[in-house]
Amino acid sequence: MLELKPLAYAYDALEPHIDEETMRIHHDKHHQAYLDKFKLALQDLPDLKDLPVDEVLWRLADLKEKLDSKTWMVLKNHGGGFAHHNIFWEIMSPKGAREPVGDLKNLIEDLGGFDKFRQQFSDLAMSQFGSGWAWLVLNQDKKLEMYNLPNQDSPLTLHHQPLLGVDVWEHAYYLKYQNRRADYVDAWWQVVDFAAAEKRYQTALTKNHS
Ligand code: MN
Repeated sequence: MLELKPLAYAYDALEPHIDEETMRIHHDKHHQAYLDKFKLALQDLPDLKDLPVDEVLWRLADLKEKLDSKTWMVLKNHGGGFAHHNIFWEIMSPKGAREPVGDLKNLIEDLGGFDKFRQQFSDLAMSQFGSGWAWLVLNQDKKLEMYNLPNQDSPLTLHHQPLLGVDVWEHAYYLKYQNRRADYVDAWWQVVDFAAAEKRYQTALTKNHS
């Protein structure tokens, strides 16, 4: 049964970096709407409706030929929106590790260090034209990779495991930051939780999709 999990922290817990009103609308309205529309589409898809959303997105390329294009788009857009926001709330925290820890710390050191990583990731967040996300993923060779994707297109559909993602849809920042996406991305680094990303990395290393 798919449901919207409550945040693991208060709506105002990420203040002043991410404001309470944005968190309320983003979680209770936007995230809820992605889930509602995803569930509605699944009602007519008995083979898919009991799968975890990540699994649906993992199979999305194969499903393209099997489903009508409208249904397929709902799974992509709203399934993606549901899955991605689950990750987004998880990898932020009022008291998290603001810099990489564990294996991710070593891997990011190997890529040139955290400052460079942070700059590259911020650049991806900034250069996403229009709505989308910047992602850090574990690819099929079990290597780290970073890129941006438009809208709710999912790394899972590329068979990559998302470890960290920043939402750069305007709904994620417009109330507080208006057009200043760079200020929002800077603020996001103040609430990111690399302990959660590390946990996702360890899970991703051993995860097998059918
Ligand atoms: Mn969002």
